[in-house]
Amino acid sequence: MKKVVCVLIACLFTQVYFLNVSAHNTNYVEDIINTINEEMISNYIYTLQNFGPRITATPSCQQAGQYIYEELYEMGYETRFLPWENSGYSDRNIEAILPGERNDSVIICAHYDSVPTSPGADDNGSGTAAVLAAAKAISEYKDRIQLTYTIRFITFSGEEEGLLGSYSYASNAHNNNAQIVAVLNADMIGYARSDMGKNRVKIYDDENSAWITNISIDVAKMYEEYIGLNIVRRDAGANSDHWPFLAYGYDAVFFHEYEFNDYYHTSNDTADKIDFNYATRVTRLIVATLIHLANLEITDTEPPSVRIDKPKEGYLYIADREIIRVGKTIIIGKTTIEVNAVDDKTGINRVEIYIDGHLKATLFSHPYKFIWDEFAIFTHKIKVVAYDNAENSNYNEFNVIVFNA
Ligand SMILES: [Zn+2]
Repeated sequence: MKKVVCVLIACLFTQVYFLNVSAHNTNYVEDIINTINEEMISNYIYTLQNFGPRITATPSCQQAGQYIYEELYEMGYETRFLPWENSGYSDRNIEAILPGERNDSVIICAHYDSVPTSPGADDNGSGTAAVLAAAKAISEYKDRIQLTYTIRFITFSGEEEGLLGSYSYASNAHNNNAQIVAVLNADMIGYARSDMGKNRVKIYDDENSAWITNISIDVAKMYEEYIGLNIVRRDAGANSDHWPFLAYGYDAVFFHEYEFNDYYHTSNDTADKIDFNYATRVTRLIVATLIHLANLEITDTEPPSVRIDKPKEGYLYIADREIIRVGKTIIIGKTTIEVNAVDDKTGINRVEIYIDGHLKATLFSHPYKFIWDEFAIFTHKIKVVAYDNAENSNYNEFNVIVFNA
């Protein structure tokens, strides 16, 4: 009897202990974003400003790059300079890596260069501070968190000369078939004039990347007391380093202050104009989004949507050109198969293209296109399958009549 009671008590304690441990683990996002504070953000921004204008390929920009490299290295990350050459400029991006279970990566990034004459406190000391603060906060928990995806902390130069560093990075990634799940770009996140400005942040995205904004909106609600921001969505344009990633078919969003900085690109873009409380809250939002992305701690049981945009069912194609609607899909010569695939919760991981059940291509970045040019006559089946990042899948298929000899 006594023994049984002891065992029961032991069980009870064990149970309680495990409950505490798991409860603690689920709160690590709160713990991490709580280590990000105004003092930390202001230190980074003042330090960056004190290098002077960080004009790409000049000594002050290179010194700022060296400082960023050393900070990231000292946090215990595998850190490297990535030299680039573009449009007559040559400089370096800096990348620190926190490996996850998979090589696919989630990127947090910002440009650290500035325009001539500007100390670049907001543009873009604020975004660079967010990358450093993310790295610092996560470094203190990195042995405790289990990451699905690899996190890459990246700072670019050459942004002010035409997104040069980020174009170089994204084109390399594309050429090497690197799998990038999501990109979070921070540029000018430290300025707010009014109460409205202090309570809002803009996120720029596109159709394929909207799922990332959806996660940010959820995260902003989940950690409201630490973030206190409403998200305002806008359509992405070519105005910062998220753009090259979008251009190469990756999913990327851009975080940006709600009220545009009055001192933009002037000598008055200085740290004393920064609202550090605001910059801290925007940084926490980005970091919480980053961790949720890296773990995809999202319940997604919804399959993606997928459709074949080309060939269109019921049309005649000759030499890859749409001719006329004929009721049946008839293809003479080669054809490009174009697929539209979107997932609202976790984004598209990959699209597979099959002809008669044989896998012809696996595509990791959009536009999802495959040129089908092989001997084929009479009836064949085109099937496309899209997978989201939670491995839910959906497909679309139809038969085509082909003459390609
Ligand atoms: Zn900028």
